[in-house]
Amino acid sequence: MRNKNKGGKLKRFLSYYRPHMPLFITDMLCALLMAGIGVAYPMATKLAIERYLPGKLYGAFAAVMGACFAAYVLYALLQFIVTSIGHRLGVLMEADMRRDVFSHLQTLDFTFFNNARTGVLLSRCTSDLFEITELAHHGPEDVFISIMTFLGAFCVMLTIEWRLALVLLVSVPALLGIVVLLRKRMSQASRRVKEGMAGVNADIESSLSGMRVAQAFANEQYEIDKFVHGNQKYVNARTDYFKIMGAFFASMEFFTNILSVLVIAAGGYMIMRGSMDVVALMTFTLYVASFTRPIQKLTQFTEIYTMGMSGFSRFCELMDIQPAIKDAPEAADIGAVRGDITFENVSFSYKDRDDNPCVLRDVDIAIPAGRTVAVVGPSGSGKTTLCHLVPRFFEPDKGRVLIDGRDIAGVTLHSLRANIGIVQQDVFLFADTIFENIRYGRLDATREEVIEAAKAAKVHEDIMAMPDGYDTHVGERGVTLSGGQKQRISIARIFLKNPPILILDEATSALDSATEADITQELTHLSRGRTTLTIAHRLSTVRNADEIIVIAQGRIAERGAHEALLAQGGAYSRLYNAQYMQ
Ligand code: ADP
Ligand code: MG
Repeated sequence: MRNKNKGGKLKRFLSYYRPHMPLFITDMLCALLMAGIGVAYPMATKLAIERYLPGKLYGAFAAVMGACFAAYVLYALLQFIVTSIGHRLGVLMEADMRRDVFSHLQTLDFTFFNNARTGVLLSRCTSDLFEITELAHHGPEDVFISIMTFLGAFCVMLTIEWRLALVLLVSVPALLGIVVLLRKRMSQASRRVKEGMAGVNADIESSLSGMRVAQAFANEQYEIDKFVHGNQKYVNARTDYFKIMGAFFASMEFFTNILSVLVIAAGGYMIMRGSMDVVALMTFTLYVASFTRPIQKLTQFTEIYTMGMSGFSRFCELMDIQPAIKDAPEAADIGAVRGDITFENVSFSYKDRDDNPCVLRDVDIAIPAGRTVAVVGPSGSGKTTLCHLVPRFFEPDKGRVLIDGRDIAGVTLHSLRANIGIVQQDVFLFADTIFENIRYGRLDATREEVIEAAKAAKVHEDIMAMPDGYDTHVGERGVTLSGGQKQRISIARIFLKNPPILILDEATSALDSATEADITQELTHLSRGRTTLTIAHRLSTVRNADEIIVIAQGRIAERGAHEALLAQGGAYSRLYNAQYMQ
């Protein structure tokens, strides 16, 4: 699953520059010009002081100073451009990555989302990518420009006084040694910080979504304690990080200062010996800055690099997860189907469980187009799992699922799912208007079609009674809908989608019996003319099915029509009597 090596990762990072080449080139050109000005300035000063001052060429001296002034005005302008454009480039790349990771998440399957924590995923999509902006911008600019400045300054220093330049050069390996050592520790610490933050995010997310449970059990204090623990872990990780960062910057500062002292001491010695003049030493000290600043910048960059790259690694990790279920290489569009569904000797187990028990065993079911088959059985017997095999949310370990006689493993997921409508026990409504929530069933539906679907689901009147009718917002800061209304909205979605295959997975189980009786009528209306696989807890709702299948521990225990099964006096009749014959 994860195969990208380190080089591949860098290459992958660089590929995000490609769409923004014009920005990147502008940025680099400006930065290059800045480096040029930085290296040329001490040289120009040396020239002016050495040649024009002693010769009393005050006009020329003023001209050089004027040029220096102008150069620094330009430098400021370039600095502005580089900072604004460079960061813009970074933000654009960050946004591209966020778009990619979001799109990638859409392709992942149920197995992935069953196991992933939403908070962790959230931080992968947001805070993990924050540092990318800095990295993308400072990366090429700082590294490239620093190296240019460093080399430029070093060459010029060699021409001024090569022995002194060599003294400086000798100190570089020591400097680099410290950088590499501390950098490694910083990158480890930075990873722990990220993990801590992701943990905190996940804790908040899980706790907020479980708030009602926490309060119902009066377990608020327990939640707070749990959170404090995670929060403290984050603080510790961050504290460690800052300690290493402190050591890092202190050593850098120390080295830079010591270098200045070294240059003055060695240069002073040469002046005493008469082998160097004061102007040369002055110019040299000006260059020390253009020699150490790049090193400082580079070391600062290593911090940005570790932060950015650890975020990027986590980004790559997520991007490299391949969905277990995706279109086969030669998957065909299944088109509009008639709706024959066949389970052929299907066995299934969830791969993510260690004990890996078989949830479905050798299941054979045939539902002719337009007919209704009901599946009943105790909870945990595998009914929902069976339903999830039809839209290929999961894949059978053994056997096949066929639609119109075609193995669904060979058709595109998109075309397959376009033919299937699912109504489940808990309805998810997006934080949007009622209108948009219904239109989710078919995104290009008109307002009239949406209203018609709502009427068919018998929810139109309820919607019209809401403050803004169809434009009423649902969820946070909006109306709260009753269970029945929510279910009707989900039914309206399916009316709008109008698929030939319908799956009802305990669609009415969460409702009271009066509402259930009402909604059962709409469901019957909805299933007219469609192949329907229905699961219901209350057997009254399935008695009219063409075939009733009793499933127990993943196996088909009994099958037949309602009356026949009752007469048979087996599992079905026991279930039925338990519910209705008290
Ligand atoms: P039913 O809908 O009949 O109540 P399910 O199909 O939901 O039953 O579950 C059947 C069995 O599979 C149960 O033992 C359940 O614990 C297990 N199961 C359900 N979903 C998952 C999952 N995502 N991962 C692992 N095991 C699961
Ligand atoms: Mg279920």
